[in-house]
Amino acid sequence: MEKHPFHYDIDACGDVVHFEDFIDASFYLIEGAARALLIDTGCGGGNVRRLASAFTDKPIDLAVTHAHGDHDAHAGEFERVYMHRADIAAKRAALPEEKRGETERFLPLEDGAVIDLGGGALVRALHIPGHTPGSVAFVDEAHEAVFTGDAIGSGVGVWLQLPGCGTISEYKAALLHFATELYPYRNYRFFGGHFRQADPPYSTSHNPVSYEMVEDMVRLCDDLLFGRAKSQPYEGRAFGEEAPRIACAGTAAMVYLPSRVR
Ligand SMILES: [Zn+2]
Ligand SMILES: [Zn+2]
Repeated sequence: MEKHPFHYDIDACGDVVHFEDFIDASFYLIEGAARALLIDTGCGGGNVRRLASAFTDKPIDLAVTHAHGDHDAHAGEFERVYMHRADIAAKRAALPEEKRGETERFLPLEDGAVIDLGGGALVRALHIPGHTPGSVAFVDEAHEAVFTGDAIGSGVGVWLQLPGCGTISEYKAALLHFATELYPYRNYRFFGGHFRQADPPYSTSHNPVSYEMVEDMVRLCDDLLFGRAKSQPYEGRAFGEEAPRIACAGTAAMVYLPSRVR
């Protein structure tokens, strides 16, 4: 079904409000005692801050999982914008000279940084470079939720075929650190960057983002690094000359470039 840019699907997943835009980019609203936090913005039409403000009476800050247009298109509507330092730098470098100033007011995150929403609602950023240099997942202990953006994919597999993505060996190192930091939260609810695409490739069964997917992704990195992965040409979008391939292990899938394994 063709969707209109101003069409949003909205549902409450308990205390997490889930928004989905016309291209199935997901973003989420959570609330603390003093402030609310929108995690990503999608790239649909209208004013997303105003859309989200119907679900909270608290001032809304924005935390961006990574600097891709389908996740941060509405950053300009927010006073406080949190983004990992490496993605602020990547975004600045990609902008035309006269627009670079826009990123100066962004609040840079480091691995382990905490955003305090008041009343004990603390949201922790975990750095997981690969899809972008500054990709993060957000862990919300108050709502027992983990928001992973595109860092481990959302069923269609993590995209490592884009310009600016890390190599698979760099991504594996990031995943090992991430898996350790995330372990205490492994039973939380996981929310991906494209919630409704949460189906594995070549299957129609539901395959939501999970801690198991992180473990499977480490295994998939190893399979690719040691040349034992079964892969096939990727039917979807290529962004350069080289033809991407897709490989899977358990619940994890990855689109990658053979020249960017090590
Ligand atoms: Zn992305
Ligand atoms: Zn995305």
